[in-house]
Amino acid sequence: MSVRQKLTWRIMAVERRLSGQLVPARKKSGGVRRQSSKNEDVAPKKQSTAAAVPPVEEIDIPHLKERGLFRGPENVPVLDELGGKTKEKKLESLQKWLGKCSRCVLHKECNHIVFGEGNAETRLVFVGEGPGADEDATGRPFVGRAGQLLDKMIEAMGLRREDVYICNVVKCRPPNNRVPNVDEVAVCGPVLFRQLEIIQPELIVSLGSPALVTLLERKDGITKMRGRLFRYGKSLLLPTYHPAYLLRNPPEKKTVWQDLKLACAVLGITPKG
Ligand code: SF4
Repeated sequence: MSVRQKLTWRIMAVERRLSGQLVPARKKSGGVRRQSSKNEDVAPKKQSTAAAVPPVEEIDIPHLKERGLFRGPENVPVLDELGGKTKEKKLESLQKWLGKCSRCVLHKECNHIVFGEGNAETRLVFVGEGPGADEDATGRPFVGRAGQLLDKMIEAMGLRREDVYICNVVKCRPPNNRVPNVDEVAVCGPVLFRQLEIIQPELIVSLGSPALVTLLERKDGITKMRGRLFRYGKSLLLPTYHPAYLLRNPPEKKTVWQDLKLACAVLGITPKG
């Protein structure tokens, strides 16, 4: 075996090891690693056929028009101002900049800022509206009942939680789990925009109405917008319902499963359901 061939084999071996940590790369055959845990809560077997990808809709998103608008009212640092060369380091730098934030009133009753967690190199990001009680207590996103359902949704897609990145529009818990108000989103939203700009996933799945409204800056309801595919900078955006809504309305799990199958089709992976 020539030196060149040996080098090629070594590179392939490293790539195979790394691929176990990321959302699987697109494969010609569609075959990807699958998870073994149960997911019947979200993915009924009879609905496991592949979804057809709808056309990508191009809509006007004001905060994406100009790079400068990413800065937000609190001057969130732009990418070049954040330390580190990798996406992970950039996210760490952004989190460090955020620090013990008190830029909006939500800091008053906040126990832990929930910045977000997951794989910085992922192709798939989930965005919710804000931390709840369990998240506020632990500092981790989506760890309560809704989070456990989100885990099942991710597993139904044939992925693991650690394959994706999960974050929220606001990083501190709104009192009594109320919806974050316009002022709070205006201050904290640019941190989310910067997270997405750092990660640059192929697909963003927004969970619920506040995340959708923040990302698209439109007042169209989630019922009208879910299951559609929008251009969002260098990513695509797919809105669906929030897992907390599914806990209150279990019949809508079928609807969300349709959206998740669409997400799988966009990413070129085979759902487990
Ligand atoms: S919600 Fe965001 S802007 Fe407001 S205090 Fe928390 S981290 Fe800061």
